[in-house]
Amino acid sequence: MSALLDALRAVVGQAHVLVPRDAGDPEFSRHQTDWRGRYHGWAQAIVRPASTDEVAQVVKLCAAHQASIVPQGGHTGLVGGGVPDASGQQIVLSLQRMKRVLSVDVANLSMTVEAGCLLADVQQAADEAGLLFPLSLASEGSCTIGGNLATNAGGTHVLRYGTARELCLGLEAVTAQGEVWNGLKSLRKDNTGYDLRDLLIGSEGTLGIITRASLRLYPKPASRLAALVACETIDQALALLTLARRTLDASLCGFEAMQAYPLALTLHHKPEQAKAARALMHTDVKGDPIAPAWTVLIDASSPHSQADLQAQLEDTLSRALQEGLIQQASVAQSEAQYREMWALRETIPLAEKVEGLMVKHDIGVPTSCIPAFLARAEQALPQAFPGCRIVCFGHLGDGNLHFNVQSPAGISDQSFLAQHEHAVNAIVYDIAMDLGGTISAEHGIGQLKRDELGVRQGPVSTSLMRAIKQALDPQGLLNPGRLLP
Ligand SMILES: Cc1cc2nc3c(=O)[nH]c(=O)nc-3n(C[C@H](O)[C@H](O)[C@H](O)COP(=O)(O)OP(=O)(O)OC[C@H]3O[C@@H](n4cnc5c(N)ncnc54)[C@H](O)[C@@H]3O)c2cc1C
Repeated sequence: MSALLDALRAVVGQAHVLVPRDAGDPEFSRHQTDWRGRYHGWAQAIVRPASTDEVAQVVKLCAAHQASIVPQGGHTGLVGGGVPDASGQQIVLSLQRMKRVLSVDVANLSMTVEAGCLLADVQQAADEAGLLFPLSLASEGSCTIGGNLATNAGGTHVLRYGTARELCLGLEAVTAQGEVWNGLKSLRKDNTGYDLRDLLIGSEGTLGIITRASLRLYPKPASRLAALVACETIDQALALLTLARRTLDASLCGFEAMQAYPLALTLHHKPEQAKAARALMHTDVKGDPIAPAWTVLIDASSPHSQADLQAQLEDTLSRALQEGLIQQASVAQSEAQYREMWALRETIPLAEKVEGLMVKHDIGVPTSCIPAFLARAEQALPQAFPGCRIVCFGHLGDGNLHFNVQSPAGISDQSFLAQHEHAVNAIVYDIAMDLGGTISAEHGIGQLKRDELGVRQGPVSTSLMRAIKQALDPQGLLNPGRLLP
């Protein structure tokens, strides 16, 4: 085994092969555990190549030594896809040194970056060129564009701009044989056979290692605005979505919904980031703040002036008030208030993390089926697990909810998960699938949902996926045990 490590050191340099004796080194340890603290592994080494050529050499060496590879970007994935197994034999291939923005083509509205580029740095480079890269996630300061593409990340502006897949024009990747596939085109139209780019997007490191990407940019909007709105029911929130689609049209960028309980958790654990929630709250008899049943965050942007956009949004909200769809609304009056509204929404996962482990879901159903999903799941879960708490929020405009289930008060999160995770999943996924939905609308499959995918997707899908894996990675070198049922 040390022959492999010596060879890897010769390729990437001594300082960029971290081994277990560096375990005291936080830089080694942080690669072994996922963001939620659910999965812990033990790698043979963390290898950090600096170029596509080095990635290719690393893969060839691993193939020659039969060592499997776990690609890793920013390590913010939520399904255990980038955590090594416990064998102590796997090589974690970290893209973190490959973080250059290679070019921005203003006339073509595109940019080319290395896979380890932080999403926030991609956004900033586009911004500096007077353009917009619209992918936006709460983890954008840590996640990488390679990870975003490998998971086909969604985020807060899918409604207007689509997922990571829609924002990618071309890719370069290293195959399981250590060859470099150059599909780094910046074309809007290219009808030349199988779409290998789309095959790699969402493949979670099981088919190839993404090394570079060509990304689709947009003109930077001249104005942007957000509003927080109180709705009594999910039907009202959906009627508001229909109205906003009509009145705001292409200006509508995001439509997020949050139930009262996740807002209460956020106020409790992260009060500084939850300031915006107070605008729509009232107090109960004891003087404690209560959030509306549903708080909706509407995000809009436009090529026209701020005043025009504000008038457009306020018109939408006054119609919604007249039609009885909303009870109250608060429109951001400054960029600072805009950011506070988004901070509220984006801090919910951080507040959940402080609260403890939960059975997490990122289900998707057709938007029109959201009320049916909620009615059925909110009835079935408390019947099966009296006292369980539902933490529901998410991208309502995309039909994608984070529908998380917390243990009843007084029962430890660990024991609730150990005993009931499977049964909770069965209830939630049965309902979502029955409504034509999916068990993962954005976080992906990884380790967490691999077995569930096998049960849910049907044998034809599974055998097609296995055939693709066998053709591209016959040795099973790339991220084994992840994604594929
Ligand atoms: C607070 C928080 C909020 C989040 N919000 C969202 C959200 O709104 N929407 C959303 O979709 N996700 C969200 N996520 C999940 C996560 O940030 C995304 O999945 C992100 O795309 C992962 O990027 P990463 O660089 O951290 O990838 P990693 O976690 O390092 O890896 C994720 C998967 O991709 C593979 N991989 C990584 N890089 C490469 C590469 N270069 N080539 C091939 N395979 C690779 C890994 O093997 C692994 O299977 C959130 C996470 C956190 C912690």
